Amino acid sequence: MDKTSKNKIKKEILLANPRGFCAGVERAIEIVEKSLEKYDCPVFVRHHVVHNKKVVENLESKGVTFVKEVDEIPDESIAIFSAHGVPEDVEISANSRNFKYFDATCPLVTKVHLEVKKHAKLGRDIILIGHKGHPEVVGTLGRHPKHSNTKIILVETENDVKSLNVNGEKLAFVTQTTLSVDETKEIISALKKKFPKIVGPNADDICYATQNRQDAVKQLSLESDLVIVIGSKSSSNSNRLKELAEKCGTASCLIDGYEDFNTNLLEDKKVVGITAGASAPEYIVDELIAFLSKFDFKDVRNLSKNNENVNFKLPRELQ
Ligand code: SF4
Repeated sequence: MDKTSKNKIKKEILLANPRGFCAGVERAIEIVEKSLEKYDCPVFVRHHVVHNKKVVENLESKGVTFVKEVDEIPDESIAIFSAHGVPEDVEISANSRNFKYFDATCPLVTKVHLEVKKHAKLGRDIILIGHKGHPEVVGTLGRHPKHSNTKIILVETENDVKSLNVNGEKLAFVTQTTLSVDETKEIISALKKKFPKIVGPNADDICYATQNRQDAVKQLSLESDLVIVIGSKSSSNSNRLKELAEKCGTASCLIDGYEDFNTNLLEDKKVVGITAGASAPEYIVDELIAFLSKFDFKDVRNLSKNNENVNFKLPRELQ
């Protein structure tokens, strides 16, 4: 071994497991792609089908048009609702139109919609834990039956729980699926303390993919000097991964792809961890690994595998 190679610091890339696409995202993208293949008419998607810039750009390049509202979709076309779910009004307005539509709402979000309806039917007021303005939250709020005598209230923080003024005798909670597991636990325990009779899911409605990626990024953060999260700024679960890495004391950044990466962050770093949000495709991880190899990060190690065997069926017409 010569003197130069002896003094060279070994640099390593660690990959979180699991990372990247979840079953709900895979299903939503497949619904769009199969619709493009099967139908001759134009395909419109209400809202970004999943919160990933590159996925959206790729579908646009194949001819998909993304719109904000159903009334922007012309008759005789194919309409698709995004994985985040939609308020009931959107479905009603689509049913009155002359186009075919597919609902790409993740079944785990639909499960929360059904919980809201069930609680309202049983006369319970509902606390929704989530982030104001996020499309999933807008969709879930919009699933509360209009003529119900009950109400649905959004709570974002433990402080919001303190100022809640509701009757705790008939009260339930549901949650957004892509929240921070730890913060949600704290909000739920504040709710249970204030309203001992509140009912809800056993733990929360946070989905398996969000939970598993957060567990994996905790492990990744313990072993890395820097955690790079691949995902878009609009992606809730990707933002939570970055926050969690930072809470674990490891520097972190959130990027759409290697082109956005600030290489100054590599200074003095020996182990760089990579993970990807539930809407980020794996090819972006591969591109980033290739890019980092130019900076001597050539050894790549996968952290222990957490196998996810979740699959969601496509709508029958697209199977
Ligand atoms: S992150 Fe969870 S809720 Fe959202 S699409 Fe994926 S599996 Fe469904």
